[in-house]
Amino acid sequence: MPPYAYFRKQFVPLAEAKIGILTHALHYGTACFEGIRGNWNDEQEQLFLFRVKDHYERMLKGCRILKINLPYSADEMCQLTVKLVEKSGYREDVYIRPLAYKSSEAIGVRLHNLDDDFFIIVATLPAYLDAEEGVRCCTSSWRRVDDTMIPARGKITGIYVNSALAKTEANELGFDEAILLNHDGHVSEGSGENIFLVLGGKLVTPQSSDNILMGITRDTVMQLARNEMGIETAERSVDRSELYVADEAFFTGTAAHVSPILEIDHRRIGNGEIGKVTKELQRLYFEVIKGKNPKYLHWCTPAYSKLVKTRQS
Ligand code: PMP
Repeated sequence: MPPYAYFRKQFVPLAEAKIGILTHALHYGTACFEGIRGNWNDEQEQLFLFRVKDHYERMLKGCRILKINLPYSADEMCQLTVKLVEKSGYREDVYIRPLAYKSSEAIGVRLHNLDDDFFIIVATLPAYLDAEEGVRCCTSSWRRVDDTMIPARGKITGIYVNSALAKTEANELGFDEAILLNHDGHVSEGSGENIFLVLGGKLVTPQSSDNILMGITRDTVMQLARNEMGIETAERSVDRSELYVADEAFFTGTAAHVSPILEIDHRRIGNGEIGKVTKELQRLYFEVIKGKNPKYLHWCTPAYSKLVKTRQS
């Protein structure tokens, strides 16, 4: 079964989905995208798409920022995604990448008077960060882009140059991931993850006005912490030095899952091992995304219809 893409209103083999080299988004970063996980549940032989509508609602907000008008509602894009995943037939975890972009083949920096288009691809994704062993981080010499530069609340392709500069710098210095500060010196987020600290038994995470992407995993973890562990999260400005004195720290993200941070700027976090709160949140999170917790099944969209299951078995 070849990998498929939804491209120019059709399902086509991925190899046939091509865009011209003059495409506006390729030159100017004028696109916004999503990363959505499909999580394979072995017992149920089902692939659950996690919070898929929330992802498309966030993408449509990004489209508003970029003046991208798509002829689809969030619900319609969810249905197209289910069809694409079902057609692709994976029996393992997948990563889904929808992208809305300025599709005109035109030179000239602007957002107006351009055509818009949208595609979806589905692929497998190797482990992004080591969620089992934990990661070592540095604070980046690059600062997070400000809302007055490119709004970080949109998952805008051009913004990822900022993330890529920070990620490569961190990797070349021997760290797994970078933590970016804002221009005012407060903590913002990782190159592709939100960050949480455990301080005095409470969770602390940077607030939306600190140039973060409003992560869906971030929201998931806050809800699980409150409902299942009775732990509240303070969304507020976080000082750099609070990173060093935290009892625990972890990243959240669709690609990164819940990834424990064991060291920041050569300082051990807590006792340098994965903390209790992080471990329990990880356990809850993995159970929920695989559709194994009935209380949170409303977040999980099955990709395979019964018909397909019957045909396969
Ligand atoms: N921040 C950035 C910059 C990201 O790219 C991501 C990944 N989408 C996140 C945070 C985490 O967001 P989510 O949990 O919705 O994947």
